[in-house]
Amino acid sequence: MPLIHRLTERRRAAASFRHSFIHCTARAHMYYTHFMQDAEARRQIVEAGRRLRDRFFVASNDGNLSARLSEDRILITPTSMNKGDVTAEHLLTLDLQGRVVAGNLKPSSETKMHLAVYQARPDVQAIVHAHPPTATGFAACRIRLDQDVILPEVVFGLGKIGFAEYGTPTTDEIPNAVVKEIPDCEALLLSNHGALTVGSDVMQAYYRMEVLEMYARVRLVTRILGAPTPLTADEVGELHRVRERQGWGRKAAGIESVDPALVDLIAQIVVEIMKRKDGSA
Ligand SMILES: [Zn+2]
Repeated sequence: MPLIHRLTERRRAAASFRHSFIHCTARAHMYYTHFMQDAEARRQIVEAGRRLRDRFFVASNDGNLSARLSEDRILITPTSMNKGDVTAEHLLTLDLQGRVVAGNLKPSSETKMHLAVYQARPDVQAIVHAHPPTATGFAACRIRLDQDVILPEVVFGLGKIGFAEYGTPTTDEIPNAVVKEIPDCEALLLSNHGALTVGSDVMQAYYRMEVLEMYARVRLVTRILGAPTPLTADEVGELHRVRERQGWGRKAAGIESVDPALVDLIAQIVVEIMKRKDGSA
């Protein structure tokens, strides 16, 4: 073969190798990212479930937690199990129609509520539902927590606290009521039932549940002590503006971070495989 043809062939082979390399590295990176995201979501659900139990935010088998894994996959806790006893292996992977993709147990009886929130809020990455006693007391008395704001931290941490009308558990009534409220709040009371919080990951949703319950306790104390002094509408408005400026509200959906050292390692492995494949061809 003339030299010019051999050089052209080599250039083509090099271009093909480069294309394959980039393709394989991208796929390896994607698999690694999904694997890490799944593992981290499981870890956080287990940790938050334990804290919910330890703080008596749930009793017996109450409550449920979930995390979004991708556009069409979520992780969710099983039904009929104390959330403090849930391990990573107990969790179920569902598609957004609620079909079980992986896992051996039965998914939470409130799965429809979680799916409705993920459909309504593409930015939400995790949901925690619990029955913290004081916040649930306000929900049972149908007293809203978003009126007469008395603590700036609550605006910073939760924004507006929604209130979903009563619905029969396990039916479409709760998802429908939640979807009406969830577009502009990160935490809401479920009338005569409990509370729901959302976040950019499970721990953020869990901490919002803590803030909600603490705020409900402070509100209860102020009712016992006498008339509290609520912040004015201007003061509350300014708090919301500070929250927005500081970026304490919604975060964009997506993967937060990937360990670059591991990506390099995967790239090196791919190069080695490609070299061997090239050598054996
Ligand atoms: Zn419940």
